[in-house]
Amino acid sequence: MTLKKILTTVTALLMSVCFAATPAPAAQPAADLGGNPGDSVVLKWKNGKRAVFMLEFDDSYPTQIKNVIPELTKREMVGTFYIVAGGGLLKNLKTAWEQAAANPYVVLANHTFTHKGVQNVEELETEVSQAQDAINAYYPGRKNPRLISFGQPGGVPWKVSKEEFKAVLAKHNLINRPHFYGPPFHHKSAAEMIAVVDLALKKGEMGHLDFHGVGGDWHVTPLDWFIALLDKLESERDRLWITDPISWHQYQTERKTAELKTLKSEATEIRLSLSSQADPALYDMPLSLVTRVPADWKACAITQGTVKTRAQAVDGQVRYDAVPGGGEIILQPAG
Ligand SMILES: [Zn+2]
Repeated sequence: MTLKKILTTVTALLMSVCFAATPAPAAQPAADLGGNPGDSVVLKWKNGKRAVFMLEFDDSYPTQIKNVIPELTKREMVGTFYIVAGGGLLKNLKTAWEQAAANPYVVLANHTFTHKGVQNVEELETEVSQAQDAINAYYPGRKNPRLISFGQPGGVPWKVSKEEFKAVLAKHNLINRPHFYGPPFHHKSAAEMIAVVDLALKKGEMGHLDFHGVGGDWHVTPLDWFIALLDKLESERDRLWITDPISWHQYQTERKTAELKTLKSEATEIRLSLSSQADPALYDMPLSLVTRVPADWKACAITQGTVKTRAQAVDGQVRYDAVPGGGEIILQPAG
């Protein structure tokens, strides 16, 4: 064997090792799907994530501005803030909360206007609507009506019936959040908070943690516990949809009543319809879908109304987002 041949052989061997070691493109987990082109499913959670996690912060405490929002922003993680717009804590940091409202990782939610509780349904109406006006003032360009999350203030009188409460929330398009659950009341260490994330992943369901002060203020969660929790969430990001209570509620509500039909399935085009029983004016969250496409489609162009996207086919499956009631979904082979 000449030197040249030896070099060529060694190079070929190295190349084959390199190619073998090159990871496959990020594979999407295969959906449980029929074998015929056009067969489609709505994924349980957005982007096929295994579970959902939500971080919620009450009462507009200064340490939320100082410690929480910078840590969330750094990690591009969403937090929902149940502000008390008519309370002193927020007023003292008015400019900071205005800046926070413009942050894409901050969602503002209704925790009543003054947090003093309510003696009757008239007071509830006033507290809720003033808080609603204050939140809307932060978002002048946003469409209205839209859904906003509601968190009932704790430790104060609440003298309204369940029916009165429900009616006032419905009138203002408010969605009651899951019961308060968080440190230092229900969790006494970082490990106990992290266990809540693991449980959500184990069940494939929604988990959440609610906070007051972080690294100071009141009902304090130590900052190092909070950072440990965020590091855990970061490490599970591939499997977790980290979102806010309204996005979770919208996705789940739409998915539960979604009806997906294959209208046409041909070699060069698949057409589907997607509807749900939820009011499209308030429930416009795109659902994540998977459709089986013909084996020779390597990539796919997806059109719904004026929205055009593109997705790779993996094992004959294409994953994409579509809005219920947003018009026919058209899939065509691309490139
Ligand atoms: Zn509160």
